[in-house]
Amino acid sequence: MIEIENVHKSFGALKVLKGINLTVERGEVVSVIGGSGSGKSTLLTCINGLEAIDSGRITIDGTVVHDRKTDLNRLRQKVGIVFQQFNAFPHLTVLDNVTLAPRKVLGMGRSEAEEIAVRQLKHVGLGDKLTTYPGRLSGGQQQRMAIARALAMSPKYMLFDEVTSALDPQLVGEVLDTLKMLADEGMTMICVTHEMGFARDVSRRVAFFHQGVMAEIGPPDQIFGAPQDPETQKFLSSVR
Ligand code: ADP
Ligand code: MG
Repeated sequence: MIEIENVHKSFGALKVLKGINLTVERGEVVSVIGGSGSGKSTLLTCINGLEAIDSGRITIDGTVVHDRKTDLNRLRQKVGIVFQQFNAFPHLTVLDNVTLAPRKVLGMGRSEAEEIAVRQLKHVGLGDKLTTYPGRLSGGQQQRMAIARALAMSPKYMLFDEVTSALDPQLVGEVLDTLKMLADEGMTMICVTHEMGFARDVSRRVAFFHQGVMAEIGPPDQIFGAPQDPETQKFLSSVR
């Protein structure tokens, strides 16, 4: 499980996370919503140790993320992250993009890595794109490739940061369907999203962030049906 305890994080004088507390259980899907600049992305990058924190504690299955003794490569293998912007290697085929980390980071042999990559690419519906270059894929296909690439490391947890925000509207659905499939399979996920329908249908809990504070968290019915916090109410009426 992921435990976030009283986490504070600043960039210079700017306080970006102001005492975040959140525990995500195995198999749980938590969506994080909130306005731009509220600290959502920073939370995700702190969880997998891409960013340092000022105080508080984040533990993943009991391992303290921000501890000098923690092997961050090993931790990141357990916690996959997919970002809004596609970051494929353009000179590598789809298959080679997906086998790269298992081979380089895990030291896996080519045939084993390819077997896993093919399985994950089929899983996200890209079984016919193995030898294609990323530049020839649609945005939705690129994001599904990025998801397959993360899954090829056999993560226990997945963090998604607005993975559909850069997509043309007609491509959003195929990526959300992929996330929903992972959720249905029991993957533990934290999804930062602007897709309120997705947050409502797929998450067990929805967290609303406002100016570095988790202003409200609860089941989708509560957050969308009867939000208690005035800022949550304001945000939701602005996105509807
Ligand atoms: P969100 O994802 O909710 O839009 P972010 O976590 O990206 O918010 O950013 C929160 C605040 O921190 C913003 O004001 C942003 O400009 C600032 N910020 C984010 N990353 C950095 C950074 N690496 N250096 C300085 N400021 C940053
Ligand atoms: Mg963000």
